[in-house]
Amino acid sequence: MFDNLSEKLDKALHVLKGHGQITEINVAETLKEVRRALLDADVNFKIAKSFTNTVKEKALGQNVLTNLQPGQLMVKIVKDELTQLMGGDAEEINLTGSPSVILMSGLQGSGKTTFSGKLANYLKNKKSKKPLLVACDVYRPAAIDQLHVVGEQIGVEVYSDRENKNPVSIAEAGIKHAKAVGANVVIIDTAGRLAVDEVMMDEIANIHKVIKPQETLFVVDSMTGQDAVNTAKAFNDILNFDGVILTKLDGDTRGGAAISIKSVVDKPIKFIGTGEKMEAIDVFYPSRMADRILG
Ligand code: GDP
Repeated sequence: MFDNLSEKLDKALHVLKGHGQITEINVAETLKEVRRALLDADVNFKIAKSFTNTVKEKALGQNVLTNLQPGQLMVKIVKDELTQLMGGDAEEINLTGSPSVILMSGLQGSGKTTFSGKLANYLKNKKSKKPLLVACDVYRPAAIDQLHVVGEQIGVEVYSDRENKNPVSIAEAGIKHAKAVGANVVIIDTAGRLAVDEVMMDEIANIHKVIKPQETLFVVDSMTGQDAVNTAKAFNDILNFDGVILTKLDGDTRGGAAISIKSVVDKPIKFIGTGEKMEAIDVFYPSRMADRILG
């Protein structure tokens, strides 16, 4: 996807560079191509349209038509706008609170459990934290097993209680356990469903209300395109989450999700998942992502 979009943008901007004389018509044509490239990358239509309008205004405002290197200036404007659209600066997660409680939300299969492990590993190794993972999926015993496997891999304790079918009380007991063992970050992995449904939403809303996490993260599979945006909106309406985790960016992903989600829910993307291994986690830098998209 990225090569594709970057190639297309490159072509679009090349048209502009190739013209001896830059006219408003060339700029308009180029922007049309840019818009098409964004749509192909699964960026929402309205967002793509408003993006190109902003770029056009900036281009005219910065006198791109009379600039000595109009192509380069256009590329810079497009890149800067793309960076802004994805949030501008990188955003940290909130680690205040003792312990700091991080609640993971998202659909089943989005990569929540994997990411919970990656985040615990990251906080342990890069931020010298002592994390505790808490398994709150009371429906799928396999999910609890999976978190234990992950915990063992990275040397992080996992709290679970297979007899308890109440996720709120498991989360509370997990936090209590963290205090007892001196863990300073608690990562709560919750149950997901295959699609947004009321029971799941009520459950996560309940956990959220009772434990009042410092940080609520929404995990989404970047391969799901426009669906990712709709899911993000549904979760944000209920949880007013603090940040987004985009997983599976290593695959043939539709990078449009990164752009659209930020625009629709106006919450920062904080981390990306780039593989199945515990080390495949990166802080999300909007400018790096823009570079990757533009090539
Ligand atoms: P959950 O149901 O939300 O807890 O999702 P899981 O953590 O079980 O992940 C579902 C599948 O996606 C698993 O096979 C993971 O190995 C895989 N997965 C998770 N994150 C990534 C990622 O960043 N890249 C790739 N390629 N696979 C991932």
